[in-house]
Amino acid sequence: MRRAPDPDPPADWFEPECRRCPRLRDHLATVRAGFPDYHAAPVPPFGDPDAIVLIVGLAPGMHGANATGRPFTGDYAGILLYETLHRFGFSSRAESLARDDGLELAACRITNAVKCLPPQNKPTVAEVKSCNPYLQAELRSLGQGGVVLALGLVAHNAVLRAFGLTQSVHRFGHGAEHVLHGDRILLDSYHCSRYNTQTRRLTVEMFRSVVARARELADQRRD
Ligand code: URA
Repeated sequence: MRRAPDPDPPADWFEPECRRCPRLRDHLATVRAGFPDYHAAPVPPFGDPDAIVLIVGLAPGMHGANATGRPFTGDYAGILLYETLHRFGFSSRAESLARDDGLELAACRITNAVKCLPPQNKPTVAEVKSCNPYLQAELRSLGQGGVVLALGLVAHNAVLRAFGLTQSVHRFGHGAEHVLHGDRILLDSYHCSRYNTQTRRLTVEMFRSVVARARELADQRRD
């Protein structure tokens, strides 16, 4: 039996009808016309509402999250992500196929710095800023001692912005750890995109070691 999709998250984390960014709103309208079966709307965060680890990606991919409505689902970037989350006990399955596939995340949630599909996969700084209040609210809900895993520089910078912090103090680096307000830890990884994995900027081992560290921190912080 197919399971119903998860209910929408709280309104301050996510607005299904958000139209704050004119360029993204117009782009989604064009995509909807060409791909009527696609989600083609803001993509909600997915996973445990009481997560200890919040994974922050860039933005929905055209034929992935934008099509399926679940972050990192349906395109290449999600393959390594869900396989690794499963390996370290954060995901009930190694493959995320669709919003109603029954996969569950435990102690972990996945969100994006920008909730709508950007043209050429590149949100503008203004779009990252206008989407930031949702991330800010979601990060607040993570609570003291939570772990934020930023996938790539855009996500890293969006998390710093949400905390009112500057890049000069917290520089992005694969595997870098930054202590933020409320004893929260920001952990950085290169984004698990097809480009990064195929050029071996990010290897499977490199990604596993960052997620293993997220697991270790989550377990310490839960005790
Ligand atoms: N899919 C997402 O949801 N986010 C990304 O950053 C990449 C693919």
